[in-house]
Amino acid sequence: MNSDSKVTTSPLSSMSTPTDPDFKQQIQAICGENVMSCYQCGECTAGCPAAFSMDIAPNQVLRLAQAGFKDDVLTSSAIWLCAGCETCATRCPRGVALSKVMDACRQISVAEGKVAKDQRNVLKMHEEMLRQIQTFGRVHEISMIAAFKMRTGRFFDDVFAGIQMFLKGKLGLIPSVIKGRKEVKELFDKQ
Ligand code: SF4
Ligand code: SF4
Repeated sequence: MNSDSKVTTSPLSSMSTPTDPDFKQQIQAICGENVMSCYQCGECTAGCPAAFSMDIAPNQVLRLAQAGFKDDVLTSSAIWLCAGCETCATRCPRGVALSKVMDACRQISVAEGKVAKDQRNVLKMHEEMLRQIQTFGRVHEISMIAAFKMRTGRFFDDVFAGIQMFLKGKLGLIPSVIKGRKEVKELFDKQ
């Protein structure tokens, strides 16, 4: 081999052995999606705006779920970096709503204590965002960021960007509430 040649390693090459053949049923029970419908064409990953930052690609999340590599999915960054934009669902020839699968995997990961250490701050942001929606019916960015910083101690991250957004009127001081706040709260109470 030429000394300048790069050795590339598949992100799947270091996966553990399958841990749970029932993982796919567990996902389906939560979100209704059948991961076995996926035939690995890769259309979802080709259109995903967040795939570049994920440790395993969206179609690989499904392949691992099909084969029962539960821990590899639940400890991945991919499930936390999915933005829920549903680009994948609109491209999928098999009608798989991958964003729902990602959400189900997040729920299982939290419930079973599998969130990777380097993704725990993402989980905290996620929790604070949901708390905002439960309280106001929508997100009040300043309150959410303040709560996130209190929980993580990352007081000075993104301060400059925050000041710029405030000066441009992108961050309101007073939270606004939506009309259907009671109905939104009832959705949370049903969980
Ligand atoms: S687009 Fe659909 S069928 Fe193709 S890999 Fe993605 S989820 Fe599977
Ligand atoms: S919903 Fe998630 S996985 Fe699908 S395209 Fe958007 S970011 Fe990617």
